[in-house]
Amino acid sequence: MKQTKNYKIWFATGSQDLYGDECLEKVAQHSKMIVESLNATGKLPFEIVWKPTLIDQASIRRTLNEANNDPECAGVITWMHTFSPAKMWIIGLQEYKKPLCHLHTQFNEEIPYDTIDMDFMNENQSAHGDREYGHIVSRMGIERKVIVGHFTDPEVVEELAAWMTTALGIMESSHVRVCRFGDNMNNVAVTEGDKVEAQIKFGWEIDHYNVNDLVKYVDAVSDADIKALTDEYYSTYEILLEGRNEDEFRRHVEVQAAQEIGLRRFLEERDYHAVVTHFGMLGGLKQLPGLAIQRLTQDGYGFGAEGDWKTAALVRLMKLMTSGKKDAKGTAFMEDYTYNLVKGKEGILEAHMLEVDPAIADGPISIKVQPLSMGNREDPARLVFTSKTGPGIACSLIDLGNRFRLIIAEVDCKKAEKAMPKLPVATAFWTPRPDLKTGAAAWILAGGAHHTSFSYDLTAQQMVDWADAMGIESVVIDKDTTIRGFKNELRWNSIAYR
Ligand code: MN
Repeated sequence: MKQTKNYKIWFATGSQDLYGDECLEKVAQHSKMIVESLNATGKLPFEIVWKPTLIDQASIRRTLNEANNDPECAGVITWMHTFSPAKMWIIGLQEYKKPLCHLHTQFNEEIPYDTIDMDFMNENQSAHGDREYGHIVSRMGIERKVIVGHFTDPEVVEELAAWMTTALGIMESSHVRVCRFGDNMNNVAVTEGDKVEAQIKFGWEIDHYNVNDLVKYVDAVSDADIKALTDEYYSTYEILLEGRNEDEFRRHVEVQAAQEIGLRRFLEERDYHAVVTHFGMLGGLKQLPGLAIQRLTQDGYGFGAEGDWKTAALVRLMKLMTSGKKDAKGTAFMEDYTYNLVKGKEGILEAHMLEVDPAIADGPISIKVQPLSMGNREDPARLVFTSKTGPGIACSLIDLGNRFRLIIAEVDCKKAEKAMPKLPVATAFWTPRPDLKTGAAAWILAGGAHHTSFSYDLTAQQMVDWADAMGIESVVIDKDTTIRGFKNELRWNSIAYR
């Protein structure tokens, strides 16, 4: 599985030569200390690299273009320690193409009441210089993240770390490549979309293959390879025969092992990181890929069912954004299936016909072989489990005909009240914020899909920042959502984004 580059974020300090060399030496010294302090927190997803102070148009233009041209640079943090006349920034900013953060901080935390004089004021004037710089970025209409506070404040460090993850998502978006086997399911609206516009907006390459191109790879897998992987399954997961014949059960599992190996070879040879299947277009495949897809998604592949390439690409992207996160709880393709509407116990049972990602599993994982109520193939093997508890976000990217909208809902994952022994699929159970009634109504009003890209490890704000950087509309459904306010937001957005 292809991982992300060894990304770094650059730290560029703005100043000018009006205050003399002594002052500029201090500016450089202070910004170095800020970078060292931030890196030493251990809270950042990757390293911040200090860059020499920018004091004129030429140095600004050169540095921002060097950032453009360095494939490992995921963005630039800018900070004006002193005053930095902002016309100097115009050309550099016009040419700059990567994520931009404006860290509105200050070297000293507290005003030095007893010693402060005009020299100090001239040297420590980010309250002044950052406004001049902010003005030109706003006037030029450039999207950027503004973070305010002292650089040692844990909240500031957390916001910066979150933005760095978003910057990685912005950079990696244009490397997402989706392999579709078959087309979207006939007559389904929400999984459709404009693939050309998706490439323009997000950089996604969305290709199509006949599923029988894959069948050749699956059929070519050797018996020895199938046996080895099936043995691995049997030693990794619980086997739930549920009255089936042992040999017949294993033969069904072997079909998925061949599919997993065939899929991996097909995708690796062509450098795809996300895959889309459709239960109605299986060609020569003996089973709908279930266990096979579950194993791929656990390794970081994006997935969308029934031809849903938008969700597949988004799952892949969100998995990349969280790939280096310590103690990550998981990111997965999900589907809203059925409700519990009992007062005080409201929630949505999340699942899919097979392909729930074990990345979010909690506790033991079992293999079951059960009939699929749709399609016309043999009973597929699949992994069955329940999911972790805690807060997460469910995201749906929809095409409204003239634009994309990203819907982001905050949800609280819980254990279902009781076991569901007859349900042959993996599940999660969550309650949308602020409550099921408001959360579901807002989701439906926004036009959100039944498929989502779900993560325990990203925040709504990070996805809003990603959408802003992509130039698309986003709406958040969270604890503060009211239907009246949300409907107005949709109305206003329809004017802002048309
Ligand atoms: Mn589905």
